[in-house]
Amino acid sequence: MEEIYVDMKPPKAADPKRSRNQTGPRSSQRSFHSVILCLGLLSVFLLVGLIVLGVLYRDSAADLSATKENLTKERDRLQTLSKQKKTCPAGWKMFSCSCYLLSNESGSWNKSREDCRSKGADLVVINSAEEQTFLSTFTNKPTWIGLNDIQTEGTWMWVDGTPLTQSYWSTNQPDNGGGSDQWGEEDCATIRNSENTLWNDLPCTSYLQWICEKLP
Ligand code: CA
Ligand code: CA
Repeated sequence: MEEIYVDMKPPKAADPKRSRNQTGPRSSQRSFHSVILCLGLLSVFLLVGLIVLGVLYRDSAADLSATKENLTKERDRLQTLSKQKKTCPAGWKMFSCSCYLLSNESGSWNKSREDCRSKGADLVVINSAEEQTFLSTFTNKPTWIGLNDIQTEGTWMWVDGTPLTQSYWSTNQPDNGGGSDQWGEEDCATIRNSENTLWNDLPCTSYLQWICEKLP
């Protein structure tokens, strides 16, 4: 045992040649240590990498879950809002998906439209037979609706820019005044006339009540 220990003793440091150019067991030991050191460092780097990846994954998973939660909250908020909004302002009558208001005062067709627009509405546009039936009993007098042929005689247009497709004219109407020069041309439409619940055209300057329409 003693002999082996003696043999394993490092060479004397006093020999400059040996300390400068090392070979043999001592050099292998150093290489071995270097390899261990490299492997150790590599392990540390790998561990750090894994930790960083873990943190990143955890953060992105948390982000995703937060985004999902926010989207659900926003959807609920919009649903509540749309439910709340589906009522008409005080004094307006709801029918189907719209709110309607019959004016108290009377005025020209232009004045009627201005009034409706100042209320966030417009003169009524009639899109269905049900709407026509409902509105013709809304009033018992000739009342302005959002229909005219001011731009081109005989081409009736709604105030929302759509052309007239389904109409509910009374017999012999629209007659543009029937050629009478007494009242001038008739370019604006009413929901009914004095005799029945069908449309008539009258001079736009006539003083009549009007119906405004807006979405709830
Ligand atoms: Ca006309
Ligand atoms: Ca007429």
